[in-house]
Amino acid sequence: MSYPKPRKWLGQHFLTDPRILGRIADVLAITKADTVVEIGPGRGALTEQLVSRARRVVAIEIDRDLAKLLREKYAGDERVTVIENDVLDVNLGEAAGGPYLVAGNVPYNITTPILFHALEFPRAARAVYLVQREVAERVVAAPASENYGALSANLQALASAELVFKVAAGAFTPPPKVESAVLRITPRADPLVSADEEAPFRAMVVGAFGFRRKQMQRVVRELWGLGADEAAEILARADVEPTDRPEVLTPADFARLLRARTASD
Ligand code: SAM
Repeated sequence: MSYPKPRKWLGQHFLTDPRILGRIADVLAITKADTVVEIGPGRGALTEQLVSRARRVVAIEIDRDLAKLLREKYAGDERVTVIENDVLDVNLGEAAGGPYLVAGNVPYNITTPILFHALEFPRAARAVYLVQREVAERVVAAPASENYGALSANLQALASAELVFKVAAGAFTPPPKVESAVLRITPRADPLVSADEEAPFRAMVVGAFGFRRKQMQRVVRELWGLGADEAAEILARADVEPTDRPEVLTPADFARLLRARTASD
């Protein structure tokens, strides 16, 4: 089969090694009852592995030429639906039409928006992504560790995350400049923030890490324009040490902080 030239601006780096592709699909623990939404199927190499394990695959591809090739390949195959669109404009649960899993070797320039988009409601039971290794390390980082930051706290408030294995750049055509890693995300049955709290929570966490070197007593004042007494009261109610820096706060600490602030309004 001849393919169009890879489009760099769409993050097109294709995987061909069937062993790695099979391992990615295995990490998702797919059964014959499952619907899998695939993000960025490209030339369909991972799609093949998903189709052989799942009941249905809904593949969302933005590239018109690649979407056409996939439609042709799976014409008449009821197990595969190809949606030609920007994944960020598709509600994944609606596209799946019921419970679903997510898989994707995703374009690296929009990994973070994709991770959070795929956590919108209704959420998948679990998701597996091939992402830039450095992003995977930030997603799974524990509080007080080197890579812990806003991405870690925001994602871990909604889901658990594991870096399952690393993939060398040479496994892709064309090879990207960075190493990759397989990331498994499992939405929490008891998310630390509700749907309504998500946006203010994210803004607060991003804002707090903007003051990474400051202590929380200063961070809270700067973030919310408060006086010292009010800031101290909110931190006490949230059970957060005023002298701690944002990088040691757990996602649960941040969630309590948001609620303590809301309660003071
Ligand atoms: N899954 C294939 C593989 O493993 O070889 C391709 C992976 S490639 C890293 C990323 C794919 O995502 C490309 O096919 C690209 O066209 C597609 N893509 C890029 N931006 C997208 C978007 N916003 N929505 C849907 N697909 C997108």
